[in-house]
Amino acid sequence: MSIDRITLTHVRVPLVEPFRISSGQVSCKDGILVAVDSEGVRGYGEASPMAGAFYSADTPESVWKDLTDILIPAVLHHGSSSVAEINKVLKSAGGSPFARAGVETAFWELEGRKTNRPLWNLLGAENKPVASGLAVGIYSSIPKLLDAVGRFMQEGYKRIKIKIQPGWDLGPLEAMRKLYPETPLMVDANCAYTRNDIAHLKKLDTFGLMMIEQPLPKDDLEGHASLQAALQTAVCLDESVEDVGSLEKALALNACKIVNIKIQRVGGLMNAKAIHDRCKEKGIPVWAGTMPELGIGGAQTLHLAMLENFAFPTDVESSARWFTSEIIDPPLQVENGILRVAPGPGNGHRVNPNTVKKWTVRTAEFSLS
Ligand SMILES: [Mg+2]
Repeated sequence: MSIDRITLTHVRVPLVEPFRISSGQVSCKDGILVAVDSEGVRGYGEASPMAGAFYSADTPESVWKDLTDILIPAVLHHGSSSVAEINKVLKSAGGSPFARAGVETAFWELEGRKTNRPLWNLLGAENKPVASGLAVGIYSSIPKLLDAVGRFMQEGYKRIKIKIQPGWDLGPLEAMRKLYPETPLMVDANCAYTRNDIAHLKKLDTFGLMMIEQPLPKDDLEGHASLQAALQTAVCLDESVEDVGSLEKALALNACKIVNIKIQRVGGLMNAKAIHDRCKEKGIPVWAGTMPELGIGGAQTLHLAMLENFAFPTDVESSARWFTSEIIDPPLQVENGILRVAPGPGNGHRVNPNTVKKWTVRTAEFSLS
């Protein structure tokens, strides 16, 4: 099947409230929509870096450049629309994982729409509802944190994740445990600590956390192994696991007991599934994280999270929890802590052209002719 056209649309949607983690703060969500047209069918992917190099060195500008200068020319030149072939092309072309995820997931979507199969079916999963967890950032005070959690928890999320950093950990956790003694609770440090903090991080064992996510720098797998050996709480790796190769190193060192899989961080659904499959073989449960992406990426993540080794609530939440406006219909909506994808081929949701138009920053179109 030939590729007729690839269209990029960079959108910027204002967030409901600014989101702050240990490495910075953002008030808008940037996403680059990748639309692949093939013989009358369109598949949408989403490349979803945060502005200001939030979770990685990638920005909307660098990802746009990877797409326009490297990946789209390579894909058009190759000409195939099969997901397996596209993965080979993307792997040899290079570019950031965000950019590759945008292109790769568009081809899964195209495949789903052409064959009238939902994405969960293409991935080899069973259709099921997905438990959703609330994730909140770092606030300027504990009352503000508790206020935000209280507001969002009205949707019944199945667990709470708070972001931590040195100076913002024990106090917020004590306050959270007082108000939510039974709710499954976890923390995410986004690499904010070092090996020197192991004695301090041992104090987190008293809070009965589900896991502590990415406490140390992403390349410090030995440090994570030392920390995991010292902690009762499970260490979960996020930023460290970029591909199956880095996963193997982490597993060989016993650097974690849980892995967070993000489609964007690992460059697409095929790599995400490969990491899931390897973790399953090794008895390591996984769960599905987000950047967070807009609705296209969010819906894809829900389909991925239907694979059997996804064992904890996902970070995908209601669209309205993050975004003042959503680009897909229907938007994602948590009910009693549960998310369901819309029925139908591909991710099941429709991209809303009016919303996309409203938030468009720039567009570009590519074809061979
Ligand atoms: Mg994380």
